[in-house]
Amino acid sequence: LIQLYMPLNFLGVVYREIRQALTDIERMFKLLGENREVADAPDAIALPPGPAEVRFEAVDFAYDAARPILHDLSFTIPSGHTLAVVGHSGAGKSTLSRLLYRFYDVSGGAIRINGLDLRQMTQDSLRSAIGIVPQDTVLFNDTLIYNIQYGRPGATREEAIAAARAAQLEAFVESLPEKWESRVGERGLKLSGGEKQRVAIARALLKNPPILIFDEATSALDSKTEKAIQAQLELAARGRTTLIIAHRLSTVMEADEILVLEAGRIVERGRHAELLAAGGAYAQMWALQQQEELGAALADDTPSLE
Ligand code: ADP
Ligand code: MG
Repeated sequence: LIQLYMPLNFLGVVYREIRQALTDIERMFKLLGENREVADAPDAIALPPGPAEVRFEAVDFAYDAARPILHDLSFTIPSGHTLAVVGHSGAGKSTLSRLLYRFYDVSGGAIRINGLDLRQMTQDSLRSAIGIVPQDTVLFNDTLIYNIQYGRPGATREEAIAAARAAQLEAFVESLPEKWESRVGERGLKLSGGEKQRVAIARALLKNPPILIFDEATSALDSKTEKAIQAQLELAARGRTTLIIAHRLSTVMEADEILVLEAGRIVERGRHAELLAAGGAYAQMWALQQQEELGAALADDTPSLE
């Protein structure tokens, strides 16, 4: 019985570990020890560190050959610029970020950083150049400081705290009885969506990558939290080549270019004011969100009975 029980118990532990990490893509690949979708070319070279220009050239992509997802996407994010991608759920926005991180290879076309095809560079060098603030940040069942230091293994405690301070986490942490040693995750303190996002931003700041990908939370955050997160995002994006996947249009007004994606195709592109003036899909989405926000603001202002 013991012989039978031991491996099952072990598997249970491993299973829980993996499941917990599944949505944290970086950690998932560490646990698996390899990326099964793509491999380094035998003559792959390291992407030199430093400022990065990101270019999608006529990119086509399908997870499954029978169902194309992205069609002929071309855009350039010059070094230090911000590109925002908006569009309805299922349009292919997050797929763009997965391709840039090279979880999958493109089916057609190419993605280049400073002219170098992703398929010609080592995955390690690519992934150390990119920080991702994901839609849903997974916290490990460990201390807050561990969860932040994880952004750059080997970083000192002081460096992690500095990053957390820049992500405006410090006041929150100082309010906790155990401060940086507070345990978080499923078996610890439950953080709000905004707090988790700030942990993710602190990780990204600690990593200090030239490229940042920000996949905004879809969950309806209250407008105060949203404004705070938006400010942190702008801070984190400063000086970096940034891809923002935006569900709320209010976060893309300052982007250097906005792409409107519909069913994997770019249907509109330009800056906020240009797209509003064009009176197309973006202008419609904007009008709709303005109405929703007005409704929410009115609800906020309704006197309560307290
Ligand atoms: P968005 O982020 O715009 O909501 P996604 O890029 O996540 O959209 O997904 C685009 C399309 O690709 C959706 O139809 C989705 O169902 C499909 N898709 C996403 N991930 C996978 C996957 N791992 N395997 C197969 N299809 C997927
Ligand atoms: Mg998405």
